[in-house]
Amino acid sequence: MNILVLNSGSSSLKFQLIDTDLEKIAADADHRLARGVIERIGSQGLIRFENGAGKIFRTAQPIRDHRAAIDVALRWLVSEDAAIAEVKSLADIHAIGHRVVHGGEKFTRSTLITPEVIEGIEECIDLAPLHNPDNLRGITAATEIFGAGIPQAAVFDTAFHHSMPESSYLYAIPYQLYRRHRVRRYGFHGTSHRYIAYRYRRLLSIPKEQVDVISLHLGNGCSVAAVKSGNSIDTSMGLTPLEGLVMGSRSGDIDPAIIEYLMAKEGFSIEQVDTLLNKQSGLLGISGLTNDMRDLLAEEQEHGDRRARLAIELFVYRIRKYIGAYLAAMNGADAILFAGGIGENSPEIRSRICRAMEWCGLRLDEERNSALPPGAEGEISAEGSRLRAYVIPTDEEMLIARDTARLVARAEVPGW
Ligand code: ADP
Repeated sequence: MNILVLNSGSSSLKFQLIDTDLEKIAADADHRLARGVIERIGSQGLIRFENGAGKIFRTAQPIRDHRAAIDVALRWLVSEDAAIAEVKSLADIHAIGHRVVHGGEKFTRSTLITPEVIEGIEECIDLAPLHNPDNLRGITAATEIFGAGIPQAAVFDTAFHHSMPESSYLYAIPYQLYRRHRVRRYGFHGTSHRYIAYRYRRLLSIPKEQVDVISLHLGNGCSVAAVKSGNSIDTSMGLTPLEGLVMGSRSGDIDPAIIEYLMAKEGFSIEQVDTLLNKQSGLLGISGLTNDMRDLLAEEQEHGDRRARLAIELFVYRIRKYIGAYLAAMNGADAILFAGGIGENSPEIRSRICRAMEWCGLRLDEERNSALPPGAEGEISAEGSRLRAYVIPTDEEMLIARDTARLVARAEVPGW
């Protein structure tokens, strides 16, 4: 079954075409036929497509909206240029899986999209005003293009963390605010943490109940999840993705009193503070240079830039702090799992995070760590390390495609 996975952002559309079904899932034999990203939707769109053979196509053209972006992607997918043997017309695309950021308390698993589900996603807009409307635009556009007949599924970033206990997800503010407005921690990157935990389970051939890990998704956005007996029991992001680790341009944890203080001192509006914390903070805010870890590492190494070093130190320190906290929350764990652009590609950052962790049984094998090729899966802790460390490249799109295939086949969708 060829499944189109759509991830609709505010001005971008990422897609993948994945061939999967129940047998392929069981045999781990599903595979990607193509992928692409269209950026700057609403103006001169930047287009990058890649077929299964790794051939890359780049163009630029005006892209009005998400519907136009999906149209362009589909025209390429069925074209001779793309050379995808399995897809010759739209009829060869059998289902669509959408990434939806916020499922609130309503959606605890992936689900087939019905008018009621769309209403439910709309109800969550208050919780994710920056994300859910874009996800809905993707769903509407796909329905317009393919018609109402094609099965579509919604896979929620929040769903995996549904298993968090109250003590993890409640904020210590008056309880009626949770009752009235559902103000609580939801957590994000759930599809990624779920995939990483699944790969770990496969790697070790153990049942879900034996998965006791701390999983680190370190990309532009960063989060950490405490996964105990296979379930997320805590995660660093909260009501929104702003809480927790230091990220590319998000602050992560701060004292909320800073907001009022800055409004008074700098004359900021609440919108300006919001932009400051989401777009101008984190690695970018501290370094004053960039939100890109690769560039910061280069700056630090080549020019000894003090603020680049400081940004990296804050980034690493916050992660180490969360690892310590989650080890306590979980009564210890078996492994730490690294994923995301930084986690998968930077032996340097992995090494700094794991430094002097012998106290909790973690000993990194520096050689294994630096020898692991980018994008590869493998262990990086030393022989006999009590707390082990692995790099496990994430693949959220594969999980979205798999859940979609399961839902279309009316098979059970695992909570993880
Ligand atoms: P997103 O969250 O947008 O999907 P990614 O998961 O692609 O982002 O992660 C992007 C981050 O990964 C950037 O900070 C980038 O610099 C970093 N990164 C990618 N490759 C490397 C590398 N080789 N060394 C250090 N950081 C890297």
